[in-house]
Amino acid sequence: MKESEVLFYRPFSHIYVERAVKENDMTRRLLNRFAGARVIEINHYKDVFNRRNQSYAMQKRAGALIIAGNRGELVYKGAPFCQSFGEENFFYTSFVLNCIYDCEYCYLRGTYPSGYMTVFVNTEDYFKAAEEKAGEKDCFLCVSYDTDLAAVEDIFGFCALWHAFGKKHGNIKIELRTKCGNLSFLRELEPIQNFIIAVTLSPEETARLYEHRAPGLGARLKGAAEAARLGFPLRLSFDPVLVTENYEEVYDRFIKRCFEEIDPKSVMDIGVGGFRTASACLRNMRRNYPMSELLSYPFESSGGVCSYGKSESAYVDHIVKKTEKYVEKRKIYLWNT
Ligand code: SF4
Repeated sequence: MKESEVLFYRPFSHIYVERAVKENDMTRRLLNRFAGARVIEINHYKDVFNRRNQSYAMQKRAGALIIAGNRGELVYKGAPFCQSFGEENFFYTSFVLNCIYDCEYCYLRGTYPSGYMTVFVNTEDYFKAAEEKAGEKDCFLCVSYDTDLAAVEDIFGFCALWHAFGKKHGNIKIELRTKCGNLSFLRELEPIQNFIIAVTLSPEETARLYEHRAPGLGARLKGAAEAARLGFPLRLSFDPVLVTENYEEVYDRFIKRCFEEIDPKSVMDIGVGGFRTASACLRNMRRNYPMSELLSYPFESSGGVCSYGKSESAYVDHIVKKTEKYVEKRKIYLWNT
């Protein structure tokens, strides 16, 4: 496919569908919704997703959709790169791979061989797997890591489905992480205490430079404030913190604005962490995006993890100190190298 052709495709103008899930309700709904799409039947999503020599960057722009069933592991142990917020039984699950946003630092850019969004429609299997993992234990389950589920809620409706699951399973704390500014779908949902809305916030300068296609800070703050007003537990995520020349000034302005627009009392907790990723992932990210200034930073590598290393603590300490003026220290969780 030539780059010039890619630029003219509408999102999801091409949809690959596994034959085995052709008759699934969600598949039918999606095919109805994108009725003008060219539909290509396939045997297995990996026949498309795992092809060799694909261009992740170009596929992100082409925006095809793959509809499939996932027969592998469905619920995983929380990765060491992710914050557990003090939760002992920490899991995550991914039923949508890839994201409509395109943050320059996103590990998805170096994780998957394809940039096509892939949705697994065997939702009931995911619920069953989550029930089995949790059993009777309290557990923490992140459902929006490898995508931004809230940003595509009008297409897939997964947030409402997981909210309904959370209502039935009070022992499972579900975290919905997002950069989406429009969280109006929450108005239709009961604000249950085990359905956490985790909004990732970045200084306006960072958002503009590196969080391509994602809403700006103002929109996210409005979304976060609305989630809290509706009564949902609100988590803020200042993560990843990125090194900037005048970080003190940038983050001081950012933190002040956050708590002018969000009532600090309505914040359940806050996660703070510097950029980090697996060394192999960073290699792929750099290969896929060789012009990225952000990714060309000489990160320190230790134990297979690339990060700002020792220099990070100065940034993080400053941000924590400023945040503590608004939110109690015990509510601030750090991810440290
Ligand atoms: S919103 Fe999250 S998942 Fe989506 S591109 Fe940005 S970092 Fe990646």
